[in-house]
Amino acid sequence: MLEKLKKEVLSANLELVKQNLVIFTWGNVSGIDRDKRIVAIKPSGVPYEKLQCKDIVLVDLEGHVIEGSLRPSSDTPTHLELYKNFKEISGVCHTHSKFATIWAQINKAIPCLGTTHADYFYGEIPVTEKLSAKEFENYEESIGKSIVEKFKNINPLNVPGALVSDHGPFTWGETPLKSVENAAVLEYIAELAFFCELSKAQGQEIDINLLDKHFFRKHGKDAYYGQSKNI
Ligand SMILES: [Zn+2]
Repeated sequence: MLEKLKKEVLSANLELVKQNLVIFTWGNVSGIDRDKRIVAIKPSGVPYEKLQCKDIVLVDLEGHVIEGSLRPSSDTPTHLELYKNFKEISGVCHTHSKFATIWAQINKAIPCLGTTHADYFYGEIPVTEKLSAKEFENYEESIGKSIVEKFKNINPLNVPGALVSDHGPFTWGETPLKSVENAAVLEYIAELAFFCELSKAQGQEIDINLLDKHFFRKHGKDAYYGQSKNI
């Protein structure tokens, strides 16, 4: 059933490895058949090198397994929440790629600092609010809801990704492969922005008063550094 979609989802998951976006079994990609309202997603905890088309799990939008002998990714409820609320998308991707995860862990949106970012994301990439104690009861679904909440006034196709607070990035797109492309671009611009911010933080020009103090305490008629000449 839905062999074409399963193949698409398999190759999108393998693309995560090719793009260096995952290690071990971290990360997952899904795709949806909008007419049948069925989602194909990576099974939980299966190594990428062993992943086959028959392992891809089919679930309905309520999370019931329709086909497949393995358990679907534990992040499935997050994917479903995104499909239910972002009608324009047909692929979702989750990774713990390094620089995007750094921004998520410091709970800072990635500012749009240049054209590489602007070519793909219309403005900053938002970070979700932290979950409340109650929201941990339906953890993965709450993550999805926290992303949707952030996008109340944002078109998800204009900003095809978000940072989940303290956790990592979710991206999406019109196809499963496009959601992976957006994950790769997000990681690239997360790295660029990280080093831009770092340079800014450490490379500001010295205060003029501090410059004067250090230069003129060693040079000129009012210098006072060191010992007087007759000692
Ligand atoms: Zn995760």
